[in-house]
Amino acid sequence: MKAIILLGAPGAGKGTAAERIRDAAGFMHVSTGDMLREAVKQSTILGGEAEGYMHRGELVPDKIIMRLVEGVLKDAPSHSEFMFDGFPRTIGQADLLDEVLAKRGTKLEHVIFLDAPQRVLMQRLTGRRICRACGANFHINNLPPRQPGICDRCGGELYQRPDDSEATIASRLQVYSQMTEGLIARYTQRGVLRRVDSSCGADQLAAEVLSVLKAAGAAD
Ligand code: AMP
Repeated sequence: MKAIILLGAPGAGKGTAAERIRDAAGFMHVSTGDMLREAVKQSTILGGEAEGYMHRGELVPDKIIMRLVEGVLKDAPSHSEFMFDGFPRTIGQADLLDEVLAKRGTKLEHVIFLDAPQRVLMQRLTGRRICRACGANFHINNLPPRQPGICDRCGGELYQRPDDSEATIASRLQVYSQMTEGLIARYTQRGVLRRVDSSCGADQLAAEVLSVLKAAGAAD
């Protein structure tokens, strides 16, 4: 049983890479951002607690995030292999992840650090569009849909996330460098961090992540 983490700033390509490699490598994709957006859409209690933080570009408190993640892990079949995307984001979440994985007998095998310069992150986030129905990612310049505003995969409506506005992006990137960069040191020290330059296109990025995982024996 194993788990990998996709680590990187907002806009580094975690969601896009995850979408492309989860089926190829058989991982169960656990995106805390997607789960939170779904909770907000469904107006759950947890969604109500998280919404304000998300709109401001702040991190949702660790105890809310852990409720979400523990719920997924508890219900997952025992042979599941997890790919965490956007989680953990703080040292506190990383500590709790170690605990819950240890309880399941699951090993954290690799942390793929997707690294791209700030200007690439900004350009990606401001042009990003998401399908309301299936969650697929597009970009107005880098990955345009065949028909503007319509999802290629399911025909759903594409929208811009409210936290992809320029003001909120600036605060999300700042929060990332304050809170998340400590994780890079932690996982480097543990010998599980693999850095991938993520300034390339979506298909190339997915291929590179897959080849890093294959070379490390984490995907067949
Ligand atoms: P994302 O889709 O990963 O960019 O996440 C969107 C927003 O959801 C973030 O800006 C945070 O407000 C919140 N969020 C997602 N994952 C986490 C996490 N692991 N810890 C705290 N907040 C999170």
